[in-house]
Amino acid sequence: MFSQDIRDEIAHMWPTRICCQRALFSSLLLLGEGVVGFGEGGDSLCCSTDSAATARLIVKLARSLYQLSPHVTALFDHSGKHHRFRLKFFSRNLLEDLRDLGILDRGGRKTEGIRPSLVQRRCCKRAYLRGVFLACGSMNSLRSSYHLELIPKSSTTIRDLILVLQKLGVQGRSAKRRGREFLYVKKGEDIARFLNIIGAYKSLLRFEESRAVKETKNEVQRRVNCETGNISRQADAAGRQIRKIRLLKRKVGLKELPPLLREVADLRLRFPDQALSELGAMLSPPMSKSGIRHRLERLELLADEL
Ligand SMILES: [Zn+2]
Repeated sequence: MFSQDIRDEIAHMWPTRICCQRALFSSLLLLGEGVVGFGEGGDSLCCSTDSAATARLIVKLARSLYQLSPHVTALFDHSGKHHRFRLKFFSRNLLEDLRDLGILDRGGRKTEGIRPSLVQRRCCKRAYLRGVFLACGSMNSLRSSYHLELIPKSSTTIRDLILVLQKLGVQGRSAKRRGREFLYVKKGEDIARFLNIIGAYKSLLRFEESRAVKETKNEVQRRVNCETGNISRQADAAGRQIRKIRLLKRKVGLKELPPLLREVADLRLRFPDQALSELGAMLSPPMSKSGIRHRLERLELLADEL
């Protein structure tokens, strides 16, 4: 799946700056399934992910930023095929650390929305969004129409994310599905920009390739539709002209018409499927397409008067 390819690609990227590491860690914990527990032996933070690469990234960030070592367990579902990794951190200073990350507020409650200082810099915005995609992002396969989604738990976070995206030139919108709000990016250009921002360059190349192929197909289809339209419009017009010329023939006789009109009327009856330019070429001297059209219009007017 394309979602998985994007995740695999960005989970292996390590941000070199501390500011970006904090932004990334914060988004992974806040938007993932992070649960904070306060206990006697210290406080704990639990989070889970179904991707081994993301689990490794969280472990590395926890170590590097707060010298935390997690307890990792793999949870299997009853089929035994799908598993999730559960990471549990214990720390005496956990509350401080989580405040530092903007995950808890001063009162120790879980924060909603994104703390502005975490995403102040451009480099941090990019790292933060990478975490968001790893934690709650998805993108449909390249075959159908494009659709990228981010599904954080709180509506406040969605509004904040829309603003962060906007600052980077990506238009995101929110919508509701089965009572749950989510953020989506629909336009091809915006999705491409998003993939570029989070650094998923390989996925971006694949996306652009499929976009180009699709656009070419659409362009060909559009031209075919246009041609088909022209052909049927021509056939309709020819049918109408012939009906009216026949009426003239019955009521007044083609011989009574001025010679130039008579010639054109005669040709139209003999060659009902020919285009106007082709009829013009049969005359001597040849006549332009607009000349023929003009004469056919006059014939139609005459018939209408009858
Ligand atoms: Zn940064």
